[in-house]
Amino acid sequence: LSDRLTSVFSSLRSKGRLSEADIDATCREIRIALLEADVALPVVRAFVAQVKERARGAEVSQALNPAQQVVKIVNDELIEVLGGETRRLRFAKNPPTVIMLAGLQGSGKTTLAGKLGRWLREQGHAPLLVAADLQRPNAVQQLSVVAERAQVAVFAPEPGNGVGDPVDVARRSIEYARRQQHDIVVIDTAGRLGIDQEMMKQAADIRDAVSPDEILFVVDAMIGQDAVTTAQAFMEGVGFDGVVLTKLDGDARGGAALSVRHITGRPIMFASTGEKLEDFDAFHPDRMASRILDMGDILTLIEQAQKTFDEEQAAKMAGKLASGDGFTLDDFLEQMMMVRKMGPIKNLLGMMPGMGQMRDQLNQIDDRDLDRVAAIIRSMTPEERADPKIINGSRRARIARGSGVTVTEVNNLVVRFFDAQKMMKRLTGGMGLPGMPGGGG
Ligand code: GDP
Ligand code: MG
Repeated sequence: LSDRLTSVFSSLRSKGRLSEADIDATCREIRIALLEADVALPVVRAFVAQVKERARGAEVSQALNPAQQVVKIVNDELIEVLGGETRRLRFAKNPPTVIMLAGLQGSGKTTLAGKLGRWLREQGHAPLLVAADLQRPNAVQQLSVVAERAQVAVFAPEPGNGVGDPVDVARRSIEYARRQQHDIVVIDTAGRLGIDQEMMKQAADIRDAVSPDEILFVVDAMIGQDAVTTAQAFMEGVGFDGVVLTKLDGDARGGAALSVRHITGRPIMFASTGEKLEDFDAFHPDRMASRILDMGDILTLIEQAQKTFDEEQAAKMAGKLASGDGFTLDDFLEQMMMVRKMGPIKNLLGMMPGMGQMRDQLNQIDDRDLDRVAAIIRSMTPEERADPKIINGSRRARIARGSGVTVTEVNNLVVRFFDAQKMMKRLTGGMGLPGMPGGGG
């Protein structure tokens, strides 16, 4: 895929604008990438449409060519759709917190119960694992083994009493947890290989008996296209609050993640990456996005291109300052924008003698502040920006009205600017800047 995209890149490289053709060409490749990653077709369609919409509205980047820009939009969108940030488990006000696991047979529920048990124990909790899967003969035994490995307690029907009732076991386990001071109960349930009504009903009955604080839908990442129907069936049959993706150590590209997230809107909370108890982690949307896109090298390229661009801008600015050209409000704004965007100018400034103060000045301005500052400067005429000395009282009032801020804010900005300018003058007039073209000017 990377090869294909690289050729798209080179054919688009020379163009300066994001045209409909640019967007279409790159989106065709993205579509293929998503299908290859086993994202379900309706989800691919919806997602690509969403990306196109966003690409159309995007400002044309100076740092990236159009195709790179579309890929970046896709990656950002993917991270956002996959969850932005991960959600934490909700704990009940009155313990025990009840976590119920649901999913197809073989999806990894019992293994997950052990992983969660270990993970929770390490955080100082006293979890109880509950064997409410009485479908398969060795299910109870399997959970006991896992619990022992995780060094956590297990609640299971006594052997030899015939087949117990999973709903009853689940209900009794809550009482038991309360008596034994377990603050979290993890209920392992039965699954079938396919979706069936009886299994759904049993899961729903357990849910009604114990009112879980969290129902986690456990889904095998290898399931691919089937993720949609399975997730839908569990959503309707039992409902769930979060998703756990298992078997991510396999070669599945993880399209199931996007499908499940898109179809159900539920957050993906954890990722399972092996059979051992420690193969378990919070879900990371950014890692999953690059896995699904499978464009690691292109994403690196994009990152690099942006970085280089920012560095060039920073160097240009430093050169301009060093050569003694007038430091204007436009420069001031540009500097602040760069500082917000990334590190290079900060480092550059930090390396120059006397520039520490300037950096502190810029650092004092936080993001929201910056938007207001930008609005103020944009409300000025070009003459005012180039020569702020001419900004008298009536001009300040006009600028304040134009940018929707108070006159005091305009005053503060102008004062801050003059401070910065003084510092610049001292620098460029005095000691010069070692290693800078035109330094000492
Ligand atoms: P359940 O039927 O939903 O309870 O699934 P199990 O927990 O019994 O898991 C089914 C099989 O998948 C077992 O052989 C597990 O060892 C294996 N398994 C579970 N999670 C993972 C995982 O993240 N990676 C791998 N490679 N295997 C897993
Ligand atoms: Mg099981």
